[in-house]
Amino acid sequence: MNTPNTLREFSPAPGRTAHLHSLPALEEAGLGKISRLPVSIRIVLESVLRNCDGKKVAWRDVEALARWNAKSPAPEEIPFVVARIVLQDFTGVPLLVDLAAMRSAVASLGRAPGVIEPLVPVDLVVDHSVQVDFFGSAEALRLNLDMEFERNRERYEFLKWGQQAFETFGVVPPGIGIVHQVNLEYLAKGVLSKEVVVNGQPTRIYYPDTLVGTDSHTTMINGLGVVGWGVGGIEAEAGMLGQPVYFLTPEVVGVHLTGSLREGVTATDLVLRVTELLRKQKVVGKFVEFFGEGAAALSVPDRATIANMAPEYGATMGFFGIDEETLAYLRGTGRPDDLCSAFEAYYRAQGLWGIPRMGDVDYSVELELDLASVVPGVAGPKRPQDRIDLPALKNTFSTLLSKPLTEGGYGKAAPAEPAALDLDGGKNPTQTGRATLRDGSVLIAAITSCTNTSNPSVMLAAALLAKKAVERGLRVNPAVKTSLGPGSRVVTDYLEQTGLQRYLDELGFQTVGYGCTTCIGNSGPLHPAIEDAIVKNDLVAASVLSGNRNFEARVHQNIRANFLMSPPLVVAFALAGTVDIDLSSEPLGTGPDGSPVFLKDLWPTMEEIRSAMAAALKPDVYRRLYTDFAGQNPKWNEVPSSVGEVYGWNPDSTYIQRPPFFDGFGMEAGTIAEIVGARPLGIFGDSVTTDHISPAGAIKKTSPAGRFLSENGVAPADFNSYGSRRGNDRVMTRGTFANVRIKNLMLPGVEGGYTLYFGERDLPAPDKEISAPAGKPAAIFDACTAYKADGVPLVVIAGHEYGTGSSRDWAAKGTNLLGVRAVVAQSFERIHRSNLCGMGVLPLQFPEGVNAATLGLDGTETFDVLGVAGDIRPRQEVTLRIHRADGSTTDQPVTLRIDTPIEIDYCRHGGILPFVLRQILA
Ligand code: SF4
Repeated sequence: MNTPNTLREFSPAPGRTAHLHSLPALEEAGLGKISRLPVSIRIVLESVLRNCDGKKVAWRDVEALARWNAKSPAPEEIPFVVARIVLQDFTGVPLLVDLAAMRSAVASLGRAPGVIEPLVPVDLVVDHSVQVDFFGSAEALRLNLDMEFERNRERYEFLKWGQQAFETFGVVPPGIGIVHQVNLEYLAKGVLSKEVVVNGQPTRIYYPDTLVGTDSHTTMINGLGVVGWGVGGIEAEAGMLGQPVYFLTPEVVGVHLTGSLREGVTATDLVLRVTELLRKQKVVGKFVEFFGEGAAALSVPDRATIANMAPEYGATMGFFGIDEETLAYLRGTGRPDDLCSAFEAYYRAQGLWGIPRMGDVDYSVELELDLASVVPGVAGPKRPQDRIDLPALKNTFSTLLSKPLTEGGYGKAAPAEPAALDLDGGKNPTQTGRATLRDGSVLIAAITSCTNTSNPSVMLAAALLAKKAVERGLRVNPAVKTSLGPGSRVVTDYLEQTGLQRYLDELGFQTVGYGCTTCIGNSGPLHPAIEDAIVKNDLVAASVLSGNRNFEARVHQNIRANFLMSPPLVVAFALAGTVDIDLSSEPLGTGPDGSPVFLKDLWPTMEEIRSAMAAALKPDVYRRLYTDFAGQNPKWNEVPSSVGEVYGWNPDSTYIQRPPFFDGFGMEAGTIAEIVGARPLGIFGDSVTTDHISPAGAIKKTSPAGRFLSENGVAPADFNSYGSRRGNDRVMTRGTFANVRIKNLMLPGVEGGYTLYFGERDLPAPDKEISAPAGKPAAIFDACTAYKADGVPLVVIAGHEYGTGSSRDWAAKGTNLLGVRAVVAQSFERIHRSNLCGMGVLPLQFPEGVNAATLGLDGTETFDVLGVAGDIRPRQEVTLRIHRADGSTTDQPVTLRIDTPIEIDYCRHGGILPFVLRQILA
């Protein structure tokens, strides 16, 4: 086929020429009205066009996306080859483990291990491991960092090995900042280039900065006009190794912003309003693109705050186009002049310069939001989309106290008895003195989360409020655990430059760490006397935080009401000490002279914030703080690093182990074989989440993973979490389906990771009393191990939305390693379905209306999956044959949810990792 040549010259700087794959040229070639496509779609289209090689990306993919139909996008998968990858440490360590295992596999085949190298740049930022053990003192930062290094030394040694072993793999060490803020302030380039030869002449090709990240809030970078979102580890691995990330052609919801924010309203208030609005509009799986003069008038940090919460409103992205403001941010954060000039020239040449105005672009749906209509608010106490106008918080909280649990309340017949405590200070000096705890008492006040810490306007507003509070003689109640977790050291610099940090310090908001802290639940322990009082008096205590998620138990196990709000409101509620208050009419404290002090007395004006902002965007500061991480980080330098291309696996490590994905690896692909005589690992209902399948939290002492760690000499106090042990397949496989809340319907009424084993072997008794009329009750891992030894394959039977929740690679990896060959569900969450294919596990879907109940399944059956061998097509019908205990048989047609040809290849090769490895070695 003759495809149009879209390579065009352009000038990235005066006197220089380079090339780009031109979208206007594609339009001239008659491929549709590309200039009317949403900006985000055009940027993805550029990638599809540039990477069209007839194999990974076909010309018909270019045509399909160029003819994107706003009202009815084609139900096609888009192969998106991204320019780079970002990782955080929780999700990044297992990725590096897989890369290291690939190198070991290559070395054992006698080939050069160096052939395994990420094909696009990968940056891992260590931000998820710092916990708030210490606060309220100048020493807190150092002490927390010391503990972080102590707890995570083994993981950090491994990361340092990775840093020296792979040329394209960079690590930003602990103590620098939060991945998304570091991406916004430093890693993102806006436009990238590489050397190529065109018509025999060397030149540079420029292309948009695009990425995927293994963290859902990767979308923060959409505020800088960079297309990117969060994916599971398996997809990121594919992207890293040059494979496309596949996603269904999305609808694009255009949000037309008009007007401007009123005095006293913050970017946080705006993002909570946007979250409330878009949640109601059901934008799951869609792109959201903000446009109009209101969008154009927002600063990049404000845009980034709105983009960051895309996962909370459910969208794949919350995107802003590219304009002078974007360029000003790049310059203000110290990006080099030649990059800034190429950035502007590139997007102008592509017709992508400027935020679209009403009528410029065709969106699937258009929504309106007048920024002047936004009022101050908070969100909670359990979901980020439940926004409450600030004056209504008091009433809402007291209504929720008595509301039944089933209606989202706390189901209390009467308020808790107040608990009066004399705090001894313990290890945190601010916790000294008398405190009385009631329902609604604020016990954690945290300025945290990239959502807000990347935005100088709200950080400075918090500091200005603190200044006025100190000047009025206000103090924070000793019961409140106060913390400031800046997302980068730039924040500290401008808080120091403006002389405002000392006021935050006086209120106990000393910096506790440059990382995720309370936002990810690393809020650390409360004072023991406070923990006791909460439990003893059954208090509904509160946290106030500038984070983005507040699901139950996310912030702290014992704090049940969690309110998201702007950083200045966090300081205000810390001063008030309770959420049972109307800050618009009640004083939040009294000065030393007994006079009441109201929120309005402390709230900074926009003018005050604006004049402080001048300190926040100094290119030299960014350049200084974002160079020589190692030199500025002595603790990182002290971590020993092994050297060499191949990792020296330590068989005794309980954190890092060589996973068995390449055991017995050979160059020949296998075939997909029929499954015969499979036993069910479990039968599950609707909405089994990836956290049910692969929990991230605490490891139970009596669980298979807990037993394994104990047998390997790890004391329960040092178990750490499943999240931190994702580099060890032995722990993670034992943890698969081990969530204490998962319900296997083979054992009605039983919660936890148990199943029935129908075999001859003796298994360890489960750690709770379970009776069953047939089979032997056992922990899922123990049963699966026995089945493996018996040579019996396994299937999982499930309901709707199987694998919903955060994308989690171990949910698919663990399923594979337990011996599961197929998951038969009523419907699948998009990423988890593709991850199952990526691990060679077949996703099968029941027809509408058919499920385990209608088929009368109770777990005593065995199953065959027929029709999957030989030539198969995506989404073809195959047969699930059910052999019942009474000897009868039922043939149930099911859809093979391998959705794309490449996924057939993945399954034939036993998963994406062996597939890619064979491609590289071939
Ligand atoms: S600060 Fe919160 S939202 Fe941001 S990366 Fe960390 S955990 Fe995720």
